[in-house]
Amino acid sequence: MPVTSREVHLVARPVGEPAPEDFSLEEVTVDDPGPGQVLVRNQWMSVDPYMRGRMNDVKSYVPPYRLGEPMEGGAVGVVTASGSDEVPVGTTVLHAAGWREYALLPADAVRAVDASLAPVQAYLGVLGMVGLTAYAGLTEIAPVREGDVVFVSGAAGAVGSLAGQIARHLGASRVVGSAGGPEKRRRLLEEFGFDAAIDYREGDLESQLAEAAPDGVDVYFDNVGGDHLRAAIAAMRQHGRIALCGAVSQYNATEPAPGPDNLFLAVGKRLTLRGFIVGDHGHLMKEYAQRASGWIASGGLRAEETVVEGIDHAVRAFLDMMRGANTGKMLVRLAS
Ligand code: NAP
Repeated sequence: MPVTSREVHLVARPVGEPAPEDFSLEEVTVDDPGPGQVLVRNQWMSVDPYMRGRMNDVKSYVPPYRLGEPMEGGAVGVVTASGSDEVPVGTTVLHAAGWREYALLPADAVRAVDASLAPVQAYLGVLGMVGLTAYAGLTEIAPVREGDVVFVSGAAGAVGSLAGQIARHLGASRVVGSAGGPEKRRRLLEEFGFDAAIDYREGDLESQLAEAAPDGVDVYFDNVGGDHLRAAIAAMRQHGRIALCGAVSQYNATEPAPGPDNLFLAVGKRLTLRGFIVGDHGHLMKEYAQRASGWIASGGLRAEETVVEGIDHAVRAFLDMMRGANTGKMLVRLAS
């Protein structure tokens, strides 16, 4: 039987910060799966900063969202009807058709996940791309060595909160984080095990970082860009490594943001600045999942979530995440 589903469409390309009017919630009928297809009832969907880039009509490493069509993004759900022997009814699957209650997909576009291993939404966070991003950044891109001082920006967010903890497991002697506001600063210190924490909204970033890392920084995991990258370059030690993961401070910018004006310091300090996209590092997933499971089991990796209920609040979840309302992974629960 066809099902009724609600889905979020992009209806206008945002200029600057997106507004609720740039999106619409549509009710649609989703057909039964044909041969080789599955119907998935989504339980959880992810909202992520990179989605802001897909709202622009520009060429990037992922294609732009199309106007008047449902947006896409990571989701986990259960197969409720199947035209595929490989993916039977009842299978919990991970896929890229979020922003909707039901998804009709080719069976080879979903990946079965083990729902007995962890709460299923973990596959959108610590046991998924988010965790792998932190791990790849600190192992392959800007490898942490025993005794290193590591600085993480966006440190109370999904990737950042894991990166700080993973840096410690990889041998960092001091881990410094920055996030917005006193409450996030407190949580970095008391809940995520950072040695020092900066509230970037309070005063000068460069002097705060100099105080938090008086001997300088060996590895900087950059989620924020802009002033954070500038301050990190100033604080880096000789042969320091910077993983350019994201630049969330610039995603709503309406003009090209200027680069750090102290980049020349990278020459004398022999720095490495390297960008990366997690999708290129899938080969690390097995190794990461094994290590992460061990860290989680021993209480050494805390995976925080901020949960918003219902597809009708999904746009708000995205907008709030971009403004910093989340600690850890921002998720939308669509069904139980
Ligand atoms: P997140 O950190 O959970 O959420 C976004 C955070 O950005 C907010 O909580 C907010 O925290 C912070 N923020 C917003 N505006 C800011 C500003 N002007 N200055 C400083 N911080 C600001 O998101 P996430 O999914 O973990 O992503 C973090 C970064 O990793 C993003 O840049 C994302 O694009 C990147 N990423 C890259 C890859 C890759 O493959 N390279 C993969 C995943 C994610 P505060 O309250 O602290 O401001």
